[in-house]
Amino acid sequence: MAGTHRQPEVNIGLVGHVDHGKTTLVRALSGEWTDQHSEEMKRGISIRLGYADATFRRCPEDEPPECYTVEEHCSEHDVDTDVLRTVSFVDAPGHETLMATMLSGASLMDGAVLVVGANEEVPQPQTEEHLMALDIIGIENVVIAQNKIDLVDGEQARENYEQIQEFVEGTVAEDAPVVPVSAEQEINLDVLIETIEEEIPTPERDPDADPRMYVARSFDINRPGTTWEGLTGGVLGGSLVAGELDVDDDLELRPGREVEEGGQSEWQSITTTVRSLQAGGEDVDTVTPGGLLGVGTGLDPSMTKGDALAGQVAGHPDALPPTWESFEMEVDLLERLVGAEEGETIDDINTGEPLMLTVGTATTVGAVTSAREGECEVNLKRPVCAEVGDVIAINRRVGARWRLIGIGRLQG
Ligand code: GDP
Ligand code: MG
Repeated sequence: MAGTHRQPEVNIGLVGHVDHGKTTLVRALSGEWTDQHSEEMKRGISIRLGYADATFRRCPEDEPPECYTVEEHCSEHDVDTDVLRTVSFVDAPGHETLMATMLSGASLMDGAVLVVGANEEVPQPQTEEHLMALDIIGIENVVIAQNKIDLVDGEQARENYEQIQEFVEGTVAEDAPVVPVSAEQEINLDVLIETIEEEIPTPERDPDADPRMYVARSFDINRPGTTWEGLTGGVLGGSLVAGELDVDDDLELRPGREVEEGGQSEWQSITTTVRSLQAGGEDVDTVTPGGLLGVGTGLDPSMTKGDALAGQVAGHPDALPPTWESFEMEVDLLERLVGAEEGETIDDINTGEPLMLTVGTATTVGAVTSAREGECEVNLKRPVCAEVGDVIAINRRVGARWRLIGIGRLQG
């Protein structure tokens, strides 16, 4: 069956409160595929970020919406189904209170499915956190899956629907279609597929753009004790957001690594070559944006061990955005802490305070060197590779944990 798998062409975030059914829904839509990702490397990446691919299909003998399916064979008419496209679901970890993970995953999302349990009051804390994150990042192609309709009666479903409508008012999801489903009983999934096909189109990509890969993971896939002749180079896992990458391409990673020179330490980018590419669970020669990507490199595997290169940006040499050790950013603070009780307002950013910043897949702590109304300057503990205008999630330590307090835009 491996031959029928294709590289996904679009990334769709699965967001919503814990236990509302995100993982169950991904499982129902991706069918057997989740189990087939048994390969070590693929599994390693998928678990951490929770990617799963799903191929949407259409039965040629049926009308919409019944024709939409993930089955390869339409048993009712005894015909094979036609492939529409393969999508990659990013199952944002719902238990994670740290918004950074969600936001860094979200930098790779082309659209999102917001899963809302029909059997609970709306909104639950993470429903609110995640919708706010979608709003912040500006993800406009949203479908709302009103899940667990098997647990409620018609009256409750309607009430819940109205609560959803009220809750999304004034957000990116204001006009998002709401599809009642049961992920567990597989009810109405055909309508959900149809709605995703309509609302979350594959973005137009420029094949001539400089390739840019956000590295989310990195590993050493060699078994302990492998002799150097048998060593496989370091592996990067992540997503391409622009351009194309080919086997044998030269590759640069920024910010790279810290190098000591004459008592001074300095960050230098890393260069290597692309030795192999993996996408959609298969070895390929070329990759385009969409889904999860594995890149075998010529790097010493000790450099990629244990996610050491997570948060880096990879691309062709001299074609990457700059590396910043400090920058100025425009700041938009939230009105109040997300998911907090009434009244927990957010104070202005102070000079000297530490902030945790998420830029792309990179997370770094920055000390505020100067703060003014609507903007501030930060000195980063670890530099980041980013473009002017990139969105930055700003977190402040509140009590025992980092909480999202606003968003920044890199100014320079
Ligand atoms: P997640 O935390 O959002 O990923 O939620 P899960 O997918 O892990 O689901 C949480 C629980 O809800 C599990 O016990 C599921 O079996 C159950 N569940 C998920 N979807 C449905 C549904 O449509 N109907 C019912 N009755 N239970 C569901
Ligand atoms: Mg889950």
